[in-house]
Amino acid sequence: MKKDIQDKFSKWPFFNEKGFLTVAGPCSAETYEQVMTTAEQIHQLGIKVFRAGVWKPRTRPGSFEGVGKEALDWMLEAKRKYGLKTTVEVANRQHVLDALEKEVDILWIGARTTVNPFTIQEIADTLQGIDIPVLIKNPVNPDVDLWLGAVERLEKAGVTRVGAIHRGVSQFNKSLYRNKPEWEMAIEFRKQRPDLLLICDPSHISGNRDLVPLIAQTALDLMFDGLMIETHLSPDNAWSDARQQITPMQLKLLLDELVVPVEFAEGIELSGFEDLRNVINDIDNQLIQLLSERMTIVNDIAHFKKAHNLAIFQEKRWNQLVAQHLENGKSKGLSTQFIQKIFNAIHAESIDKQGQVFYKK
Ligand code: PEP
Ligand code: MN
Repeated sequence: MKKDIQDKFSKWPFFNEKGFLTVAGPCSAETYEQVMTTAEQIHQLGIKVFRAGVWKPRTRPGSFEGVGKEALDWMLEAKRKYGLKTTVEVANRQHVLDALEKEVDILWIGARTTVNPFTIQEIADTLQGIDIPVLIKNPVNPDVDLWLGAVERLEKAGVTRVGAIHRGVSQFNKSLYRNKPEWEMAIEFRKQRPDLLLICDPSHISGNRDLVPLIAQTALDLMFDGLMIETHLSPDNAWSDARQQITPMQLKLLLDELVVPVEFAEGIELSGFEDLRNVINDIDNQLIQLLSERMTIVNDIAHFKKAHNLAIFQEKRWNQLVAQHLENGKSKGLSTQFIQKIFNAIHAESIDKQGQVFYKK
């Protein structure tokens, strides 16, 4: 078993035999039947903590905002029937009071709430003297202090079981992920608070169910203590976050296939090295995705050029671009030779691709 896990195990006694903790359940509680059937299937997988959003923080108005308080009765029934621990998101005093009344076992604080110290303080004040476990998601912006601040506010209120959930951060530019993983942020959080449970939410990082297994494995490779994975009976028909949810059967396959890295030998400080390697893997995946997107655009450009009788090779534009990239690369500490080589390779492939469009029989 991983170092520190023994301590964490006593506070969070929900670890599986592979040595990590799983929280699963739908993004949102939708209907009584959905909650009960999902809970039953999650329970059959041996998972002990069942999640469902009851109040949903939606970015734009007009989307499904959760069933509200009524769904807490369904969660309570599922908890009693299947012996599960339940967790719901709370974002204000009333949510906390309602969740406590309906015997929710673990509260979780969402990423849009962690950003606001006033709201966190309101939740902490409500919990004064009530020692319920609380999981805190990282804020939507990459600010470790804000995340730590939320932890400290709850601890000051007397909450002794605070855990953290890493769910990535917002970004302006479109990327492979819905929320950029920013693994360094979680690594920094753990460096500051190695005593706290730290789990990963691959569903909200990916925004896309195909990527969930890869992110879950990366999280375990980075020595996270567990995973929160959105699970829905019919993901495509989910009332929120349809693209990122997986079925209980897919969750079973995912959990079976996850490989838990072995503990490093005592006295050899390699874990920082492994963290760095995983960050590199992540960056390389992004590079490949970007190259693929670039080549798709090259293909569109080739069709445009062909239709307007333009030459494939536009020398003036290319020279301007390379000059800009060299300048930009230099300012970021990258050698001229390196940038030159990379763009020569990209250019050669682009010309080749365009040739295929131009001279296709
Ligand atoms: C959720 O878990 O459904 C959710 C709203 O997450 P986040 O706060 O990470 O966006
Ligand atoms: Mn969700």
